[in-house]
Amino acid sequence: MKPVIAIHGGAGFSRKTPPQPYRAGLGRALAAGWDILARGGTSLDAVSAAVVALEDDALFNAGRGAVFNAAGEHELDASIMDGATLRAGAVAAVARIRNPVLAARAVMERSPHVLLAGAGAERFARRHGLKLEKPSYFSTPARLAALRRNLKHHHGTVGAVALDRNGNLAAATSTGGFTGKLPGRVGDSPVIGAGTWADNATCAVSGTGHGELFLRTALAHDVAARIGYGKQSLPSAARSALAAIARLGGDGGLVAIDRRGNLALPFNSEAMPRACVGRDGKQRVRIGA
Ligand code: ASP
Repeated sequence: MKPVIAIHGGAGFSRKTPPQPYRAGLGRALAAGWDILARGGTSLDAVSAAVVALEDDALFNAGRGAVFNAAGEHELDASIMDGATLRAGAVAAVARIRNPVLAARAVMERSPHVLLAGAGAERFARRHGLKLEKPSYFSTPARLAALRRNLKHHHGTVGAVALDRNGNLAAATSTGGFTGKLPGRVGDSPVIGAGTWADNATCAVSGTGHGELFLRTALAHDVAARIGYGKQSLPSAARSALAAIARLGGDGGLVAIDRRGNLALPFNSEAMPRACVGRDGKQRVRIGA
């Protein structure tokens, strides 16, 4: 099976933002995931590596560079899912874990649970050797300015989906959420079936956008259900699922791969930085429509 990967840097992207640094960041993250797949590695390792690269890049709203909540703090959400086994892991509202996606993976692989939140998730991450940081590690002047300007609808997320040589799908998503969100607010990104889904029988999905609406429509699982029960194609399933978000008055996007390696990267926001390597082996990096 030819490996395939797609990543995104969030649907809350303004067309006015200079795209070049984002293109470079996407290129690095895509390479981190693709190198693993090209060497015969697993889709789980590929999505973890791609999301870690985006979390470490301060331009994107995940890990370092996460937005501030209304209390001037960072609270991060992340999740990961393994399409071969339907195992999943997630962390929500964590303030000190350098790479929340790695903590999500540790929850999946090293605990009997799916979702750990807050201080308990941080203790768990520390116990399993993950790096914790001071809250200031995550802060950047641009995010502080956004909070001070009281920007509305200022959000973003990073995510990755991959299909490996053995036909296994995986998905991962990580975010700082919305600027000025209430402390304790948890979005769709750490909720399996809302922001993230992977199932070898159908597809892998990582979403981005108005999280409350992704929660209310179970968006990522909706894409899979439309393929599984509804017999829709991946592009049609992805479009229909996003249309439900639009009907509720929100916007967003997603990246998805089906079990045959078809790709869909739709969005109905202004722009969504995204990149992929499809079955033809060609790399594509795009920001706008
Ligand atoms: N879905 C994320 C959240 O609501 C934000 C985003 O993707 O832009 O936390």
